Amino acid sequence: MTILVLNAGSSTLKARLLDPGTGKALFETKVERIGEGDRTHVSAVAHVLEEVKGQSIEAVAHRVVHGGADLTSAILVDDAVERAVEACVPLAPLHNPANLAGIRAARKALPSVPHVAVFDTAFHARMPRRAHTYAIDPEVAGRHGIRRFGFHGTSHAYVAELAASSLGRPLKELRLVTLHLGNGASACAVELGHSTETSMGMTPLEGLVMGTRSGDIDAGAILALLGAGWDHARLEKMLNRESGLAGLSGAGNDLRDIERRAAEGDDRCRLAITVFSHRVRKYVGAYAASMGGLDAVVLTGGIGENSVTMRQRILQRFEFLGLVLDEDRNASAKVTHDAPTARLTADHSRIAALAVKTDEELSIARQAAQVLRDRAREAPAQPIPIAVSARHLHLTAETFAELFGKDATPTRRKDISQPGQYACEEQVNLIGPRGRIDGVRLLGPLRPRNQVEVSRTDEFKLGVDAPIRDSGKTDGSAPIVIEGPKGKVSLTEGLICAKRHIHMSPDDAKRYGVADGDEVEVEVSGGPRSLVFGDVLIRVSPKFVLEMHIDTDEANAAEINPGAQGELVYADVEGAHGALRVRRVHKPS
Ligand code: AMP
Repeated sequence: MTILVLNAGSSTLKARLLDPGTGKALFETKVERIGEGDRTHVSAVAHVLEEVKGQSIEAVAHRVVHGGADLTSAILVDDAVERAVEACVPLAPLHNPANLAGIRAARKALPSVPHVAVFDTAFHARMPRRAHTYAIDPEVAGRHGIRRFGFHGTSHAYVAELAASSLGRPLKELRLVTLHLGNGASACAVELGHSTETSMGMTPLEGLVMGTRSGDIDAGAILALLGAGWDHARLEKMLNRESGLAGLSGAGNDLRDIERRAAEGDDRCRLAITVFSHRVRKYVGAYAASMGGLDAVVLTGGIGENSVTMRQRILQRFEFLGLVLDEDRNASAKVTHDAPTARLTADHSRIAALAVKTDEELSIARQAAQVLRDRAREAPAQPIPIAVSARHLHLTAETFAELFGKDATPTRRKDISQPGQYACEEQVNLIGPRGRIDGVRLLGPLRPRNQVEVSRTDEFKLGVDAPIRDSGKTDGSAPIVIEGPKGKVSLTEGLICAKRHIHMSPDDAKRYGVADGDEVEVEVSGGPRSLVFGDVLIRVSPKFVLEMHIDTDEANAAEINPGAQGELVYADVEGAHGALRVRRVHKPS
């Protein structure tokens, strides 16, 4: 499956086309300076689509920063969802308008592809009431939607999973503090897999010191500035764009520059670093207390992944809690997409600290893929024909001439289900070291490679051992002798036992939430010999009509008669790919 992830910021559009199963990126780009000149979100989306032209896009996943109280998990976008995202604009005025513009432009450009919105707030949607409630009049809070929502949920959830697997323990047994420290920064208490506290609040302004945002500040200070004649716009600009590391240091928002200048003796830069690390440490301690325990601290984001000195400042002097930093490990820790976790603590440290590389685009794509699988599973089951293929063969023009004579051509006997394919009048005999099988039918049209398909039972009779292969993959397959009315051909390869598979069109694939090359499980039930076929290959082509192909051994094992109809229902999804189940609904008499 390929998903295009669009992450629209106020002045940028990040796009990545990727396979959520493998994480492999097929294309990646970042459009900058949106809002300048005539570059808009619409033109940025058009630019991205132009660059991915010709690649298959099965869904578009949109990052949306604020889902408010109603949009609490990733969801398929329709007009109502678009309106709900719009209703959250006042809650995230810097982000949601950009996200919405991206959604609108992409839906217009790709109307037939499903679009999924994935929310930064979703991971925190089930925070306990005590954590998301501000201590103000509940009536006022309710009327104005004043409560803590939390952000960076996609990143917190993703690095918590990676940390758990790196620690070799189930996430649902762990108490973690995850620290997303980038240009935006937030802390999260991940308790037994759930977010139970997070530092960003109703908006992404509360909590830690950020690149240009203040984080926590006494509301009384805002009142004082209002009293001194500051208006909303001026306050908004100062708190969101002129504070944090940039405001404190006077040296911009990039910690690398600030660290360099601090090392040269710049006092404002030194202060910026200590205020930043002090704030993070306060939250680590507070969350350890609020969870009643702590197993690991997880650092991510540009700063958490890269700044050795900031990690050291944050994690030092936590021995009283049982966290012992290993300075050498911290200094040499490198996290990459291929090796995304690094341990920072000593072996005897009771509490672990890890640097983890976050990957919001991959996490967004995976959440979107899950939404699509859930949708497919809930969709009404589609009848699917099950075709039983008896032994048969496909021939090249050259082999056909050797078996049936130079001037012969295949004679069409009847069409078979896949368009353009037909059974021929011509039959051949197969001769193996142990025995022979006569009357094996040729299927047309002629092909570039010889391919003889038999069942395991046929193999015993012939005395051969053929590999299980997808059609067309005959390299290194078994040898066989073919006898026709005009001659004998000894093939050195070409004999296979066909891999069971389902033919489907791209539309079918979309409906079932699978992609070409996926392998699924098919359960056959309702008859006297129910069983589950594993390793069923999905083959997708615009030329295919929906049909599952099995051989006679497989059909007999499940007591399926040729021409049986099945119905697709969905099983629990394992891993990246969906699992199909086929339930037989009637046997032809
Ligand atoms: P993010 O928003 O996650 O991309 O993080 C961006 C921030 O990470 C930058 O503004 C830098 O302050 C910080 N950063 C990235 N690399 C380093 C580094 N090697 N040392 C210190 N800070 C870094």
